[in-house]
Amino acid sequence: MADFSLDLNEDQLQIQKWVHDFAEGVIRPAAEEWDEREETPWPIIQEAANIGLYSWEFVANAFADPLGLTFAITSEELTWGDAGIAMAILGSTLAVSGIAGNGTPEQIAEWVPQCFGTPDKIQLGAFAVSEPDAGSDVSSLRTRAVYDAATDEWVLNGTKTWITNGGIADVHVIVAAVEPELKARGHASFVVPPGTPGLRMGQKFKKHGIRASHTAEVILDDVRVPGSCLLGGKEKLDERLARAREGKSTKTQAAMSTFEASRPLVGAQALGIARAAYEYSLDYAKERQQFGRAIIENQAIAFKLADMKTEIDAARLLVWRACWMASQRKAFLNGEGSMSKLKAGEVAVWVTEQAIQILGGYGYVREYPVERWHRDAKIYTIFEGTSEIQRLVIARNISGIHIK
Ligand SMILES: Cc1cc2nc3c(=O)[nH]c(=O)nc-3n(C[C@H](O)[C@H](O)[C@H](O)COP(=O)(O)OP(=O)(O)OC[C@H]3O[C@@H](n4cnc5c(N)ncnc54)[C@H](O)[C@@H]3O)c2cc1C
Repeated sequence: MADFSLDLNEDQLQIQKWVHDFAEGVIRPAAEEWDEREETPWPIIQEAANIGLYSWEFVANAFADPLGLTFAITSEELTWGDAGIAMAILGSTLAVSGIAGNGTPEQIAEWVPQCFGTPDKIQLGAFAVSEPDAGSDVSSLRTRAVYDAATDEWVLNGTKTWITNGGIADVHVIVAAVEPELKARGHASFVVPPGTPGLRMGQKFKKHGIRASHTAEVILDDVRVPGSCLLGGKEKLDERLARAREGKSTKTQAAMSTFEASRPLVGAQALGIARAAYEYSLDYAKERQQFGRAIIENQAIAFKLADMKTEIDAARLLVWRACWMASQRKAFLNGEGSMSKLKAGEVAVWVTEQAIQILGGYGYVREYPVERWHRDAKIYTIFEGTSEIQRLVIARNISGIHIK
């Protein structure tokens, strides 16, 4: 009997269909409206919560898939519906990755459910690392966390920017410098519980794409959190800092471990947009008549579609490989997580541009969804590590040289 298979199993197929039906029936019909409104689509999140799709239980079950594919499949289907709304639904899972990647089992049990709330009281999570002067260069972040031994509290000060759900989330996970001299090795992650004084939203950004997803600054002004909100606990942090001070290697860097885990899933999101644009332009090319024949009868158009499909499938194989490797606890020795996100993000941008070309003028106007998909796709070469940073990670891994 063969053990290798790329066939989805019954459970995965069932979840894929369930999420696809939600994307087709609820998300896609609402996509244009929420893109124009540029607001968090609360009614859609509510519907996702009502059926159990927006819930910590669903996320926990999806991550428990022994083959590692369920969350990737879910992500692809949601963004196939609409990437902005999908990000409004999936944004909380970045906070979950921050908590699960760095927290103790008790902290995970306490805080992950609070990133979602319940259908009666929906909550959101946010994961905040980026700052105005620390984007790709996470090591130089300025937000400080200072321990107050008298009260066993941490005091956080700084400004975070570009934060998905920033300032409107109930649970914020903040990456801050405890010992700035140690750069990234002196960072730690903190949970800021709902309603903590001193945390507020700064500017909310108007964006090129994924406009239904809220992106804003988060200002931290003498934010005091209990010692128990340091993810992983003080003992572990002290040990890690001591090793770093001695110049010994440390296994984890707070932000990086979160990004490594989430990159293939971000790649899966990009795939959903690419697939939507490919399917739409394939149908269009069969319908649209010019010179007395369907435009797909011209090789120039048909080959474009052949290349689009090939690129999407290639990107999906990289995404699934990285998800499978992560589920088997195989190390990304060649930057496989980065490869998957790099390829899928660039494929999404390229495929959506080809789709505009296939639709001609109709691809360029808002009456058709293709221009929105093109705007939405672009973020996938920027956030969770730009394409340049993904190439840097891959290049360093394959060469063993600290490429700059
Ligand atoms: C819509 C949106 C949502 C986001 N959500 C979140 C979130 O929830 N949480 C969060 O923490 N952050 C979030 N971000 C931030 C995002 O991760 C950063 O924008 C991204 O990491 C890039 O940082 P930067 O914008 O400062 O660009 P910079 O780092 O200034 O990069 C500018 C350019 O220089 C290139 N560059 C930089 N360094 C190098 C190098 N060493 N080699 C080659 N090229 C280089 C980059 O690739 C890029 O092309 C979000 C951003 C956006 C736009």
